[in-house]
Amino acid sequence: MKEIISDNYSIWIGTDSLSKLDVSKYSKIGILVDENTKEFCFPLLSDLKESIIIEIKSGEKNKDINSCNFIWEQLTKNSFDRESLLINLGGGVIGDMGGFCASTYKRGIDFIQIPTTLLAMVDASVGGKLGIDFNGLKNQIGIFSNPKSVIINPKFLETLAENQLRSGFAEVIKHALISDMKLWETIRNSSFDDLDWEGIIETSVNIKNNIVLTDPKENGERKKLNFGHTFGHAMESYYLQKGTPILHGEAIFMGIILESELSSLTDSDKNQIKNYILSNFQLPHFPSKSELLSFMINDKKNLNKKINFSLLTEIGNCTINNLFSEDEL
Ligand code: NAD
Repeated sequence: MKEIISDNYSIWIGTDSLSKLDVSKYSKIGILVDENTKEFCFPLLSDLKESIIIEIKSGEKNKDINSCNFIWEQLTKNSFDRESLLINLGGGVIGDMGGFCASTYKRGIDFIQIPTTLLAMVDASVGGKLGIDFNGLKNQIGIFSNPKSVIINPKFLETLAENQLRSGFAEVIKHALISDMKLWETIRNSSFDDLDWEGIIETSVNIKNNIVLTDPKENGERKKLNFGHTFGHAMESYYLQKGTPILHGEAIFMGIILESELSSLTDSDKNQIKNYILSNFQLPHFPSKSELLSFMINDKKNLNKKINFSLLTEIGNCTINNLFSEDEL
């Protein structure tokens, strides 16, 4: 088992990491699940059969204030006090919303993240961003708050749908491209099916953790994590508006390809990135840049009406605040 130290808490990674789930000091323990993590992941938490299960329906559309109401109601009804604990067992939806509900219930009770999707393991569970969607706007309401610990057990990936696993991999690729050429070389020289998940997760979490420790509130360095996400978010919005939503990771893979094109990379590096992604992952059709621009002009990251990108200077290095006008794209 590996331990990564974050901001006053530990991230444990390994198939035996659940042994670090220390709940002895708490007056009451709640476990937030959805129907899938209740069926596939909860059985692995053998010591917690006596805790109170709070179940919400899976899916991004339930990362909303109605689910929060339900969670706060359950905590209240079961007399959770300030010495209680909420364990968030699930993907990014459960982690973001459960952490938000715990951090606001009675001005904050402890919570532990047990991410069960690849995306949540390498991205959502690290960095303290918590929240929910509001009036159709993603992550519109939220806070920064840290868990007591994060426990990552790659065994959970065994029951995850293949498309979810591949989608979460987009963030691993992003981490490699922005700061770890060696990880990129390992990945591109291996077959996806033979990847050493524990090692990949550890390296990827380390990259994100080091960045967020340097810049917790996203004033500078943390913006590097937005590589692939300016075009990526536009892609997500485009398909959402068409009524055929795509997975976050699919959008980010497409964003990575388009933002590599904008980067000051050699043609050979641009082709290497594009060919690796296109030959390993099935992606939806690429809309034209003009179709995407209408979604990008309102991007939260824009400055002085210019669209703001984090771009690669070479594989393993990234710069922030690269501004492009609509005409330049
Ligand atoms: P998700 O939480 O919706 O999970 C995807 C699906 O997998 C769900 O149906 C879930 O029930 C199922 N599932 C989860 N674990 C499983 C398992 N082990 N076996 C079988 N099924 C399982 O999606 P996600 O991709 O994990 O997270 C997306 C969310 O993460 C978004 O809301 C996004 O905004 C958020 N996010 C947050 C951060 C952050 O920094 N806080 C970063 C990236 C993404």
